[in-house]
Amino acid sequence: MTTDGKKIEILHFGHHNEDSGPDFLNAIVKIEDTVWAGNVEIHVLSSDWEKHNHHRDDAYHNVILHVVYYHDKNIPQIKYPVPCLELQNKIPKILIQRFENLLKSKKWIPCGDLISSIEKEVFDIWKHGLIVEKLQQKEPHLRSLLQKFTFDWETCFYILLARYFGGKVNDSPFESLANRIPIEIIRKNISDSLAIQAIFFGQAGMLELPLEDQYYLTLKEKYSFLKQKYNFQPMKNVVWKYSKLRPLNFPTVRIAQFTSLKNLGSSMFSSLMEVSTIEEMYTILQAKPDDYWNTHYRFGPSSPYINKNIKHDFMNILIINAFLPLAFIFAELYGMNEKKEWIFTILENIHPEKNKIISQWHNLDKTAHSALDSQALLHLYNHYCQNNKCLSCKIGHKILCKTTSSPK
Ligand code: SF4
Repeated sequence: MTTDGKKIEILHFGHHNEDSGPDFLNAIVKIEDTVWAGNVEIHVLSSDWEKHNHHRDDAYHNVILHVVYYHDKNIPQIKYPVPCLELQNKIPKILIQRFENLLKSKKWIPCGDLISSIEKEVFDIWKHGLIVEKLQQKEPHLRSLLQKFTFDWETCFYILLARYFGGKVNDSPFESLANRIPIEIIRKNISDSLAIQAIFFGQAGMLELPLEDQYYLTLKEKYSFLKQKYNFQPMKNVVWKYSKLRPLNFPTVRIAQFTSLKNLGSSMFSSLMEVSTIEEMYTILQAKPDDYWNTHYRFGPSSPYINKNIKHDFMNILIINAFLPLAFIFAELYGMNEKKEWIFTILENIHPEKNKIISQWHNLDKTAHSALDSQALLHLYNHYCQNNKCLSCKIGHKILCKTTSSPK
């Protein structure tokens, strides 16, 4: 009922507006026998309407319903009296109290004291929802990439893979490096490993130093020929960052690994889509750089021998961040539900990440046993807990509603 006793029926609650203006747009509300179409504004107090100056703002002149927690004041009439729905007697007080208590918590996450009471089944279902949400988050970027390359899945995967080879520090330069080297040129030169290395290092702007290193000179010579042949324009070497990076993550090492990917230029995406185990994925993603790199981190000075073949931990990063989100879109576009299930199985077979956030979850008895767990927990912490979004969280719902049955 409205605050003046008229019966309300919400026929359509409209669309949540995350920009300026009323909270819900294009709602349809029936009040007594009249159907109204327009916007809905929500406040804690009805006096907030004036406090926020809505009575002087044309954007609010099409509000058909004012929903408030507590009706403390009639709002000034605009063109017509705006009906008001008061919720204070319709929401159990205990829910509000519990929510306020959550927000006041000084724990690592607001529900730190209560999460142990949540049943495993609730957590497991929510985990799957979180993973889907995480995969969907990358959709806009991936879709625009797919459109840019006219749905050439192999090229899109090649670009994405390059981006994740760059890590957090050199992701953009690595992506633009791949963009400068069409996959067709890789295919044409794939039988000549030195040519592939020369193309990548040359295009990265890394072959312009006056070094007397035989390997370096060979690449330089090859690049000068290929540069003319393909009309290449190299990047500026200064875009590559080395500071604060562990030497194993230097862009020189990562480029050496990328160019030695066993399946570079071939149908890597399709091959990965066809496997059934994580071990098969590791075989497809194998990379064994030129021997030179086992004793170097950069061109020139040598370093003690360390095998620079890419390790499973790094392959996991590539699978989780570059491959699976693209595979998810593929499965969505072609209606392949079994492939979506397969993505969960792959994640269940990857070791969980180790970091501070995962250790904190472990302290709360939420131990990550696989990448499915750790990815879900990281997403939960970064996108929900840290922003106090407990009202949108399935665990939050359980905690708030535990023994609540009727308004008190
Ligand atoms: S978002 Fe969920 S898991 Fe995180 S603190 Fe709130 S209720 Fe707990």
